[in-house]
Amino acid sequence: MEEALKKCNICDSEIDEDNGDVVGEFGICPVAFCVWCMSSMTDMVIQLNGFNDIDMLKERIDYLKEDL
Ligand SMILES: [Zn+2]
Repeated sequence: MEEALKKCNICDSEIDEDNGDVVGEFGICPVAFCVWCMSSMTDMVIQLNGFNDIDMLKERIDYLKEDL
């Protein structure tokens, strides 16, 4: 693992991939996130995209079915 990826890019805690921490890339930028920051980011995406709204999710499911 590269030096820059040993710590969470958000909270600076130690990265442990065996413990569920995520190491990957945003485009060409190497990134690493601890489980807590990953979970917070996921929650943020869910809320920002309205994925916590049942009607919105039903709409989304119908949209996905059209592609099957
Ligand atoms: Zn973190």
